[in-house]
Amino acid sequence: MAWYPAATRMELQPESDAQPAIRPTQFILHSVAAPWTARRMYEYWRDSTNLESHFGLGYAGDLAQYIGTETRADSNYQANRRPDGTGAVSVETASNLQHTDPWTDQQIEQLVRLGVWLHHHHGIPLRVCRSASDPGYGYHRLFRAWSTSGTACPGDARVRQFNDEVFPGIVTGATGQLPPPSEEDPMPTVINETRAGGPTLQPGAYTLIPMAYDPPLLQGPCSYAVTAYATVKGEPGTRVQMRFHDLALATGRLSLDLPIDCGVIGPDGVLNAQVSRNGILATNEQLRVEIQADRTAKVDWRVMRALRWTP
Ligand SMILES: [Zn+2]
Repeated sequence: MAWYPAATRMELQPESDAQPAIRPTQFILHSVAAPWTARRMYEYWRDSTNLESHFGLGYAGDLAQYIGTETRADSNYQANRRPDGTGAVSVETASNLQHTDPWTDQQIEQLVRLGVWLHHHHGIPLRVCRSASDPGYGYHRLFRAWSTSGTACPGDARVRQFNDEVFPGIVTGATGQLPPPSEEDPMPTVINETRAGGPTLQPGAYTLIPMAYDPPLLQGPCSYAVTAYATVKGEPGTRVQMRFHDLALATGRLSLDLPIDCGVIGPDGVLNAQVSRNGILATNEQLRVEIQADRTAKVDWRVMRALRWTP
């Protein structure tokens, strides 16, 4: 599962756990035909059995994620999940009841940023889908196979905006330059991730630990303040170290931090290790963390708390 750091997480259950995994290869844009906030969309899907999307976007740019992007969501019919396991990431956007109105500037900005993230995080290619199963970007009515009985969604005005603004903006953003934000927003996104379990550590060997759902703690472009916690169980006296590193995705180059000593496992067989770091990540750069013990030990619990500022 993957969660977009710039969206507010409002996880839909049981869908999020119950629906099968996908490998996301497409991004499909919708209008929800209701002037709803992202939270109102969440409440609607939570309280009904209607087909949900991965993301919801309000008129004011409020963006929520309901389902991880590597789990199937159900608003694109045959593109939800194909027999080969690939599928589409979907966003529903607030609109008037007939979905004839254009996206607001705030909606366009968020769609562009999300589209850029999907390119960097999942490798969705920077092109408009050429067929119903072709990897790329599209809007709901682009292919008949994406709806059960045909649809005008997201509406004429938004199809024009997709072609003139949203898709070109994603290409520009993904190839180096983010569009400038419509207003200065100094407030960071707060990220809290907690996961049970973790890897078994072999003596003296560093092991990568995903603090949440996947190995990167954070991906640029952003600045951040992060603390990673790990509960480690093993023989009393076992010494534990952690170290951060940056990974440049384009070159595969790692830049390792110095190890940080986290202390020794106590008489109760438990150590709560923690390391913190502040920094900046460039586009296509990831922050990850590794852990090492000098005897065999087991990671039992992982938590990440972070503040993230996007440019
Ligand atoms: Zn639609």
